[in-house]
Amino acid sequence: ERGRLARLRHKPAITLDGQKVDLLANIEMPEDTLGAVKAGAVGVGLFRSEFLFMGREAQRLTRLPDEEEQYQAYRRAIEGMQGMPVTIRTVDVGADKPLDGRAVRDDEAHLNPALGLRAIRWSLADPAMFLTQVRAILRAAAHGEILLLIPMLAHASEIRQTLALIDFARAELDNRGVVYGKVKLGAMIEVPAAALTLKIFLKHFDFLSIGTNDLIQYTLAIDRADESVAHLYDPAHPAVLRLVAETIAECRRQGKGVSVCGEMAGDVAFTRLLLGMGLRSFSMHPSQILAVKQEVLRADTSKLEAWTQAVLEADDPAALLAPAAAPQ
Ligand code: PEP
Ligand code: MG
Repeated sequence: ERGRLARLRHKPAITLDGQKVDLLANIEMPEDTLGAVKAGAVGVGLFRSEFLFMGREAQRLTRLPDEEEQYQAYRRAIEGMQGMPVTIRTVDVGADKPLDGRAVRDDEAHLNPALGLRAIRWSLADPAMFLTQVRAILRAAAHGEILLLIPMLAHASEIRQTLALIDFARAELDNRGVVYGKVKLGAMIEVPAAALTLKIFLKHFDFLSIGTNDLIQYTLAIDRADESVAHLYDPAHPAVLRLVAETIAECRRQGKGVSVCGEMAGDVAFTRLLLGMGLRSFSMHPSQILAVKQEVLRADTSKLEAWTQAVLEADDPAALLAPAAAPQ
């Protein structure tokens, strides 16, 4: 099976009815681009940049990465992808990804970290750190195609503050006379509030990327890291599917780019359904790319519409997602 899949590496991901599909890689470090290219990814759909900020004490690094160190890292990612686009997400620290030396205070330990200061909330609370990262990303964009992705936005006020800071970072680089490039701006849709207010997001962003891992957690009120409720963490819950489907549909109506970068994108059980919803951009761990490509090559999107609609209206969508129930 692995050998058979390997032969698909250089084959473009096109459905039986001629729909071109982008299969992108999720990476954590610039070096992961090697595996991404090997697996046949046509770009990076999610560079989880927080991994540059974590585990530094173990490497005997005492400070967070400065602008230069980050710039070099983002450049290495661009070079690793050999001209293909790279989507860099600004840090998603906090909650289950604490920074060294900034662990939760004892008196905060009882709070729910997934609902606390994480991702863009953290960045807006520490604008100097955020500006440093944005400057590094903008500078790296002089060397290749970069898309800048913001995690966990939920409020219009957060969108405004974020965009103002990005403008400010550009102004700082202008003042320094430093070369930088253009980036497309995207927002992650991973909080139900965001999925329910897409108009606001599409007014300000060039593209959206659906983070199903958190979208499931927050829609179902199920801690994604809590084993005791793992059986209730259900990607096929009708509420989750509806939010994903409507996000894809609204982006397509408005001609904006949309991708899924949560685990759902790399799960072959969902490939046809996401194609049926109109998704044409999937970002996943490189190890999943060939298996998802095989599903894409076997799919005929013109035959998926009625079934997709039935799945979206079902009380128990999982029953219809079973291979035997999906259209061939
Ligand atoms: C997600 O939430 O689906 C996602 C891609 O981000 P992360 O898993 O890093 O939270
Ligand atoms: Mg997330």
